[in-house]
Amino acid sequence: MTSFKDLPLIQPLQEALVAQGYTEPTPIQLQAIPPLLEGKDVLGCAQTGTGKTAAFSLPVLQHLAQNSKGKGRAHIKALVLTPTRELAAQIGESLKSYGANLHSRHLVIFGGVNENPQIKELRRGIDILVATPGRLLDLAGRDFVDLSKVEFFILDEADRMLDMGFVHDVRRVMKMLPTERQNLLFSATMPPAITKLAATFLRSPVRVEVTPQSTTVERIEQTVMFVDRADKGKLLEWIVEEDKVERGIVFTRTKHGANRLVQQLTKANINAAAIHGNKSQAARNRALAGFKNGEIALLVATDIASRGIDIDGVSHVFNYDLPNEPESYVHRIGRTARAGKSGVAISFCDPTEIDYLRDIQKLIGMPVPQDLDHDYHHEPAMPKPGRRATPKPKQQQRPPRTGGRGGHGGGGRPSQARRGPAAASKGRRSSGSSKGRSGRSSSS
Ligand code: AMP
Repeated sequence: MTSFKDLPLIQPLQEALVAQGYTEPTPIQLQAIPPLLEGKDVLGCAQTGTGKTAAFSLPVLQHLAQNSKGKGRAHIKALVLTPTRELAAQIGESLKSYGANLHSRHLVIFGGVNENPQIKELRRGIDILVATPGRLLDLAGRDFVDLSKVEFFILDEADRMLDMGFVHDVRRVMKMLPTERQNLLFSATMPPAITKLAATFLRSPVRVEVTPQSTTVERIEQTVMFVDRADKGKLLEWIVEEDKVERGIVFTRTKHGANRLVQQLTKANINAAAIHGNKSQAARNRALAGFKNGEIALLVATDIASRGIDIDGVSHVFNYDLPNEPESYVHRIGRTARAGKSGVAISFCDPTEIDYLRDIQKLIGMPVPQDLDHDYHHEPAMPKPGRRATPKPKQQQRPPRTGGRGGHGGGGRPSQARRGPAAASKGRRSSGSSKGRSGRSSSS
């Protein structure tokens, strides 16, 4: 067993880690911290939840503590670029905890909030800047941010950055950095576009990886349920009731879909809140706070808004709509089963989503176990040989994918995937609906 004491981290950081209650480094920390302390570039394949924030924050803080010239106004020596506000805020929190015994000043900037406090802080001088690309470019364009002395550049969640269309912004930011610097790129998946991007700025990087590329976290119990689109809400209500879900994240494809679902759940007396790009930062913070303190049982999110949400104890992830990008499936289900716990990921597949399911199964290299044992089961949604997805309503269509069928034809593991104490009461249905899963024993 390796403890943090075996890593060459300075005493103030060791003490901060003890204060956090951390004893052992996580695998990504074990692999990434030593080369980063030696000044090497690192290419990391790791999801949120693996401890990757500390993996880069600790070496950055140590580098700054050891190379600080002391006097004078601080200038930006480390830049952490992240795709979302939530992730940026969480990295800021981590820097605060890990750097509690040091003197580095950090600042988190993102859009959607008043810029004046951010500008004021920038003027006072900052050592570490954590930023989303839009606000960073905006403030840099008006000379409030000087990136010309950055020694450490961290690109976090690079795959999501690309998914969200930030690649040009990232390139523009990189042009503002000095060529002589240390770089780190973290990404949950390593599609060719990321490898290509990495090659443009990492110098002989040390490659570290905690989950092999594109595999789904093993502790997560995955299931797919086939359902008519119109029944998805009822099916969700029913599972939430059956499994007594107290902390679950539900993914919808659209913001409207998220809002509608929250209304439906609220009517069914399930405490739910939506989190997506149209919500103000205050509304997002409120939803997240309610979710953290247990007042809100279900957070209904779009992919972009959910990125980087780091909340322990999420027992269930629901793919209310299957993602059209298979990589998003891996990101989404990774919201559960954090910090060594297990988790459940349930996907609803309607007849328009059959091809999405096939793409997901191709990516993760296995069929998602099927749960056919419920009263909302809808056979036309199953991926049978030769069966194509029913076309989507216009605005939801995606460009055709090449490569044909990838999944299996319905012969995956039988419907044994969701078990647990709550599943014993199958068939019970209180809200007047006759629907529900059939009374078959959960131990089959
Ligand atoms: P991250 O992947 O950076 O989002 O971290 C996921 C969670 O793991 C956060 O809640 C961290 O506080 C926690 N964490 C990070 N490193 C350790 C560690 N070595 N031991 C225990 N918890 C950790």
